[in-house]
Amino acid sequence: MFATLSDRLTSTFKNLRTKGRLSEADIDATVREIRRALLDADVAVPVVREFTGTVRERALSAEVSGALNPAQQVVKIVNEELVAILGGESRGLNLAKNPPTVIMLAGLQGAGKTTLAGKLALNLRQQGHTPLLVAADLQRPNAVTQLKVVGERAGVPVYAPDAGNQGAEGQSGVSTGDPVTVARAGVETARSRQHDVVIIDTAGRLGVDAELMQQAADIRDATSPDEILFVIDAMIGQDAVATAQAFAEGVSFTGVVLSKLDGDARGGAALSVARVTGQPILFASTGEKLTDFEVFHPDRMASRILD
Ligand code: GDP
Repeated sequence: MFATLSDRLTSTFKNLRTKGRLSEADIDATVREIRRALLDADVAVPVVREFTGTVRERALSAEVSGALNPAQQVVKIVNEELVAILGGESRGLNLAKNPPTVIMLAGLQGAGKTTLAGKLALNLRQQGHTPLLVAADLQRPNAVTQLKVVGERAGVPVYAPDAGNQGAEGQSGVSTGDPVTVARAGVETARSRQHDVVIIDTAGRLGVDAELMQQAADIRDATSPDEILFVIDAMIGQDAVATAQAFAEGVSFTGVVLSKLDGDARGGAALSVARVTGQPILFASTGEKLTDFEVFHPDRMASRILD
């Protein structure tokens, strides 16, 4: 991810290196190239506009510093502004004062929620927590089974509707039962069995729809999550912003997880979502294995892009 963006920015800065001082025209030309590189990487138009506006203003008013040549100064400004649009400081999960901490996952189908549930569960378990996974995606065929597989790999138990209980996966692989009831019962189970974290996997549709959003909001209202993580496929390009805004409005998520950051797509989602929704990116999912999971650090991501 970001290979092209990274190359383009690097070559833009290379052109500046020979200059002793930068004229306004030099800065404008540089900002134009940065704008094009960001737009070609699918970064959302309003984010690009704000970003380039700030970079231009700061570059024009930058003090000539003894330590940095003009090119380095522009790189420093771009770096700082990249960190800012990626959310500034990284923060950890909000853990409840009175466990269990309830974490709800939301996002489109195929975004990587179920995979992320396993990764997060494994990561928390390795830190000494005792998570419980809750299978409240009763929409997608075999989603419950998939979560059970993921849970087994992570060494984390899964609360799922089973025959005679909340509904069962029939021969079609589709679970019946009410996801809100399952989610609530999952949290109660975690409390009674002393799990300190509950991770609720919810249904996603291929596109944003009102029924999906209502179901997610109902699960939220029934379980009062400490953290609602919106999982977004970093490869979805310009659709990222509309999708993120719909979920921000529909479920008021509290953090973002970027999935499929290992892909070779242009990465605009990664660079737009935190800014557009005002919510921080907490984690990155970087592959299909449960260990392909990272705490997201805006400064490290910015350095990677400008490397
Ligand atoms: P859900 O519908 O949101 O629960 O999505 P899934 O967790 O089922 O993921 C959809 C597909 O994307 C599966 O084939 C996963 O193996 C794959 N996937 C999930 N996360 C990643 C990731 O970070 N990188 C890659 N390359 N594939 C992923």
